[in-house]
Amino acid sequence: MEYKLIDRILALGNLIGQARLAYIEADLDLQVASWNQGAQDLFGYTEDETIGRLLNELVPISKADLENCKKTQILPLSKIVRDGREIQCEIFYAPIMNTKGEKLGVAVLAKNISARLRDKAILRKKDQSLKDISGFAPIGIYGVDMTGKIVSANPEYAWMMGYESSESIVDQITDFAEQSFYDQEKAEEFIFAIHEAEVVTRFRCQLKRKDNTYFWALCYAKATHDESGRRDGFNGFTIDITDTVRAENELKKVNKKLKMLSVKDGLTQIPNRRKFDEYLKSEWENHYREKTPISLILSDIDFFKLYNDKYGHQGGDDCLIKVAQAIKGCPHRASDLTARYGGEEFAVILPCTDSDGAMVVAEKVRTHVKNLEILHEESKVNDHVTLSLGVATMIPGEDNTLENLIGLADKALYEAKENGRNQCIRKNSD
Ligand code: GH3
Ligand code: MG
Ligand code: MG
Repeated sequence: MEYKLIDRILALGNLIGQARLAYIEADLDLQVASWNQGAQDLFGYTEDETIGRLLNELVPISKADLENCKKTQILPLSKIVRDGREIQCEIFYAPIMNTKGEKLGVAVLAKNISARLRDKAILRKKDQSLKDISGFAPIGIYGVDMTGKIVSANPEYAWMMGYESSESIVDQITDFAEQSFYDQEKAEEFIFAIHEAEVVTRFRCQLKRKDNTYFWALCYAKATHDESGRRDGFNGFTIDITDTVRAENELKKVNKKLKMLSVKDGLTQIPNRRKFDEYLKSEWENHYREKTPISLILSDIDFFKLYNDKYGHQGGDDCLIKVAQAIKGCPHRASDLTARYGGEEFAVILPCTDSDGAMVVAEKVRTHVKNLEILHEESKVNDHVTLSLGVATMIPGEDNTLENLIGLADKALYEAKENGRNQCIRKNSD
């Protein structure tokens, strides 16, 4: 179909009107001759206010520009002032010619691009801020695509992973899971989480450096999507927590040592009274449930005050160490416990042991200590250090309490002393 020129001009006029473009015509003296609605919107003047005014009062086009102009010219970044405010415009102008090729005037198209520039400036600023943060942040920041290739990385991430620069890690890690996790099970767990939940938080693991050494890290990740909403990878954030893990391990060791110290007697190196109390209570509860007998031996060195007086406090301490080690060697079950009960008193807890069994152990303890043959010249019962022992056995119950068991053992020990020392006396609950 053939269009007449006039039809085309009308269509063009319509289009310019709809597109809200400012369209201005001026003669060779630059006097404005035509002014459309778009121009009114852009400059804020009506056509009546503008016709006859000079074009260069409104747009930066001079007479010389018009004389030199043979085809369409662009003034891409021009400012016009409206209501005292600057508006950024893209301006095009072209000579108006008649059919003989004579120049009659100039046609100008102007478009307000302030908003577009403002958006671009904001985006540029945001982009720069992100780059600054990522470059400065003391955490690793990186991006991974759907194939598992690292596509971006900040310097911190590159350095913590043992690469020289962001570029080299981006070049070299093509399989994120395989190349950056020390433990492949952990890698699978991480990738599974990002696929299923789209986020990973506080993921603690060991990461592998380029040289195959590893470090402890706390990882975060969030899935990324393209414009159509389809997942296209994820962004990751990594903190090196090696120092924290090391400090935690040190703390665990110190705590373990403290715990051990808190339940061990400093002089004899056997469990102390606190351990005795804890262990007896917990075993008592077990035996209460099971309704089985539990035995307790309380032993006390005979005439130890006299020993100290004769051989001095240091001599007394050495004797206590020897006696403690000897007693500790007598009971054989893993559940038996020998403890320092008080000054020169030692206790043996014998779980699941009846009175006869306990008496066998007590007698063994007595002879074992006597056979150490630690000279005790002041003792009134023997030439050597001896023990008196009280043995008590009970099946825990309503009337048989833990305090009763200790009281009974104490009573038996008292009787052993009264009876002449260096002997074992047993007592059972009725
Ligand atoms: P008995 O045969 O009646 O038990 O007489 P004993 O002298 O052993 O009894 P007593 O309770 O009068 O004396 C216990 C002594 O044990 C008193 C104390 O000097 C001594 N003793 C307690 N703890 C320690 C210690 O850690 N080191 C030393 N060297 N002596 C201790
Ligand atoms: Mg005593
Ligand atoms: Mg004593």
